[in-house]
Amino acid sequence: MIKIENLVKTYGDIRAVDNISFEVNEGEIVGFLGPNGAGKSTTMNMLTGYLSSTSGKAMIDGIDILENPLEAKKRIGFLPEQPPLYLDMTVEEYLNFIYDLKGCKLNRRKHLLEICEVVRITEVYKRIIRNLSKGYRQRVGIAQALVGNPKVIIFDEPTVGLDPKQIVEIRNLIRTLGKNHTVILSTHILPEVSAVCERIVVINKGKLIANEKTEDIASVVEGFRRLCVKIVGPRDEVLSLLKNKEGIAYAEYLGERDGGSCAYLVESRPGVDIRRPLFFALAEHGFPMIGEETMGTNLEDIFLALLERNDERKKKRGVIKSNVVSRSVRQD
Ligand code: ADP
Ligand code: MG
Repeated sequence: MIKIENLVKTYGDIRAVDNISFEVNEGEIVGFLGPNGAGKSTTMNMLTGYLSSTSGKAMIDGIDILENPLEAKKRIGFLPEQPPLYLDMTVEEYLNFIYDLKGCKLNRRKHLLEICEVVRITEVYKRIIRNLSKGYRQRVGIAQALVGNPKVIIFDEPTVGLDPKQIVEIRNLIRTLGKNHTVILSTHILPEVSAVCERIVVINKGKLIANEKTEDIASVVEGFRRLCVKIVGPRDEVLSLLKNKEGIAYAEYLGERDGGSCAYLVESRPGVDIRRPLFFALAEHGFPMIGEETMGTNLEDIFLALLERNDERKKKRGVIKSNVVSRSVRQD
């Protein structure tokens, strides 16, 4: 349903999007994940015809967005990063305006009221957009994307700036839309995509670094577990035990803590749940573990883990000899 082929966008010397290719099948919900500045908005703007590409192709339902923009755009509902709302209009006026703009042929009243029900803005239909909360405005933005019942829905960071309750609501809404539409949404927050998407496309610095099922990405992330543990015992002996323990990829002394304990950062090898073996090993040596806390995996670590894994795969296939991202890089 969506096909992107070798898409490139350069701004002077910057390659904002650097040779990206991927496809989204009919009925899929795909997450487009990357840190700020990765090139997500640029890609989405090219995909929707808001921006022309430097080279490469974007197709919607088999139609090239640059060759036949009118036909392609009819099939797209787009929520840009900054939704183009007219603040002085009421929701009703605005959606009617969008309806006319899109040259929509569906039953006007029925269609617009249906959309309002779906995105839950019926109660503010007669209100001026300027006076609506951020959460409601975002839903009006989503509503405009749904006018004309497009096959493909493209959302650029749909939950940015919303509070946790609103985020859950928008996620549920996206899940509902996914039942009848092909959806692609961008975000820089991992839990966001793992909660709603079946597949995740990851980009970093304009380059595609992963395109796979959500559970496969999740296993990379989970395998990359960092713990902060508080242990009572002589620092050097404890640290040496941690560093030599099977299943631990990295250990570091963090500092003294309460009750005569010290805190250590422990990073397990991918796929290893180190917590139980670590507990028993420490107990055996008479070093009580009096605290343990999982540290969040940040997006940067995930990207490095994915890159590392990609390199490993290539190495196995004999494509490259040695270009593995080293630990020293990850610690920076
Ligand atoms: P994302 O949406 O993932 O945060 P963007 O697509 O907005 O990333 O930006 C990708 C890169 O392109 C960034 O380095 C950004 O600074 C640059 N960029 C985006 N738009 C422009 C522009 N109009 N002129 C110059 N550089 C731009
Ligand atoms: Mg963006």
